[in-house]
This record gives sequence, C-alpha cells and structure tokens, in this order.
Amino acid sequence: MKKFIENRRTKVIKIDPDNIDWKHLQEAGQAIREGELVAFPTETVYGLGADALNKEAVLKIFMAKKRPFLDPLIVHVGNMAEANCLVDVFPADAKKLGELFWPGPLTMVLKKSKIIPDIVTSKLDTVAIRIPNHKVALALIQEAQRPIAAPSANIFSYTSPTRAQHVLSDLKDRVDIVLDSGETKIGVESTVLDVTVKPFKILRLGGATWESLREVIPDIIIGSDHAIIKKSPGMLKKHYSPKAKLILVEDKGEEMVKRIQMLAQLYKSEGKQVGILSCQGNSEKYSGFLVKILGEAEDLESCARHLYSHLRALDNEKCDIIISENFSDRGLGRAIMDRLRKASG
Ligand code: AMP
Ligand code: MG
Repeated sequence: MKKFIENRRTKVIKIDPDNIDWKHLQEAGQAIREGELVAFPTETVYGLGADALNKEAVLKIFMAKKRPFLDPLIVHVGNMAEANCLVDVFPADAKKLGELFWPGPLTMVLKKSKIIPDIVTSKLDTVAIRIPNHKVALALIQEAQRPIAAPSANIFSYTSPTRAQHVLSDLKDRVDIVLDSGETKIGVESTVLDVTVKPFKILRLGGATWESLREVIPDIIIGSDHAIIKKSPGMLKKHYSPKAKLILVEDKGEEMVKRIQMLAQLYKSEGKQVGILSCQGNSEKYSGFLVKILGEAEDLESCARHLYSHLRALDNEKCDIIISENFSDRGLGRAIMDRLRKASG
C-alpha cells in the first residue's frame, strides 16, 4: 500500500465553477468510483475525497495524509435524501438545521447506518455528514454517484489547504487527481455538531457560527474539552499547525501590540526569522518585520479566509517563529481563535 500511495502521479485539472467542463468532472467521478483519490474544492477548505462506501479507497486517504485511524472522516453528500440513506435516525431538529444550513459549512454527527464501513467512522456508531456549498464539490458527488469521504487535503496536523497549490505542496503524487478551482471562500473547516445528544453539542467551531445555529435551536452548546475528546477522538491534539513555532498573544489593544513588538525584537536578536499575523489597522506598528495582514479586525470573513494561506506563506518564507494577534471571540472569530490556539499547541 505504501508503494502504491507514493508511486502515483497527480493530475491537476483546472475547473471553473461557473462554467464546469463536465468531461473533466466525469473523469474525476469515475476515478472516485474506481477507488482512487480526488482532491476537490469546497467552500471551507480543499478535501481529499474517496468513495465512502469502499473501505480500500478510504484506507488510501489515511495513508496519503498519514492520518491516525482513530480520527473519523466527514462524508459529503449531494442532498438530504442521500444523507438519509447513510443514517439510522435523523432527528427532526437536525433535519430543520439541514434544511436551513445545507449546502453549507455545517457537519452533523448522526447515528450511522450499517452501509458505512467502520474505517470511515473510526468504529464509532455515528457518522459525520455534510452537503458542501461548492458547485465543483456537488458536481463531483453527482458524477461519482457515491457519498464521498473527505478530510482536509493536507498532511495530518498541518495547516489545511485553501488553494490547490497547498494540496500539491503536501500531497503531490499521493493523490490521483486535484481539481483546482482557485481559493476557497470561507477558509476554515466546517462546524461539527453532534445531534445524537440533547442539547445538540458543537464538537468543532467552524464556518457555521454558534450564533447563527442558536437562532434556529436556542439551546445548542459548545462541548467542553472533556466532552469533545470523548466524542471526537483526534480533535484536541495539536492541529492546524504551520512548521514554524506559532505564538498567539492573547492580550488586548495596545498591550497586545507592545507584547508582539517585544517578542518579535527578542527573537530577531536571537537570529530567528520572525513573521507576524496582524489585522490591517495594526500592521504598520510592526515595521521591520515580515507582516501578513489577515484583514480589517472587524472583517472576520476576510481574516478566516486568509488565515491558512498566510500561515503557509510564512512557512515558505522560512520563518522560525510566527507571532499572531488575537481576534474577536464571537461569530467566525471563535473558529479563528480555536485554530490559532490549537496551532500554537
Ligand atoms: P477533517 O476531516 O480533517 O476536517 O476532520 C473532521 C473532524 O470531524 C474529525 O477530526 C473528527 O473529530 C470529527 N468527526 C468526524 N466524524 C465524527 C463522528 N462520527 N463523531 C464525532 N466527530 C466526528
Ligand atoms: Mg483536517
């Protein structure tokens, strides 16, 4: 299997979501049916897809990513009816969320049907499902005529890919086809919501905000670390990390700026290459250092969209240390802060 993973040649196919070349999508769909790996864009990050009903194909995902088997995969489907086929029970409130949030960055954990191989769910009796909101992802699912198991298309525990180039830098010649549709829109992963418990529990913050979910089901809670590690193995370890050491500075306002300036100066004096992740408004305060601007502090969509690509860019600039500002802990900011905290270990 190791040889098989490493000896393949990756074919990159550019796909314009607004003018899909169906010949190429048919080829990619057939590859999925034949048990191959296809990386594809979603609205959150790029996924590494395989036929969710074929355990040998799913095994290749784990091998290619070097992902531990205890970390279960999300299964992507094209519509509610397909989701229904994969689950044992679909609670009414969960259906309501599906109707309002799908296609979109919400993954729901449901009691699984027997047709899903154990390898997909790490032997749990639940399965994580979502309908992605991306024309190319939906076209691939349609052409494959299969549910597609797909984690993020990066080497396990690294920063997730928001461009095809990121997929190639991690997985070139470990995946058969990469569908390249440019940068992903949201830039952080989906929100994972356990709907097998009452109240429903968020296991991972992501593209669908807690606030927007609570507008529909007011008693949704965010799982405690303890609850998450029990329900969602693989979730709490160091994750989403760049190669450089990441330091997240959690002070506020001018205190934060001063601390970042001090730390940057200190590491620079030790001969380290320092990169800084900053919001637009503060960027000039870090002159003399390599600064990547995520966006206006209030524009959390922009900050989320640029987070992973800027972390990767700073790695490419051979930074030893990345120092990051902190962002608002509300809305999409919660997902950004979750990723920064995990990436800083
Ligand atoms: P990724 O595919 O890398 O975005 O990660 C998906 C995450 O969803 C995993 O790390 C799991 O923790 C979580 N997940 C997937 N399936 C389940 C499940 N059946 N129960 C709980 N969490 C899950
Ligand atoms: Mg991932």
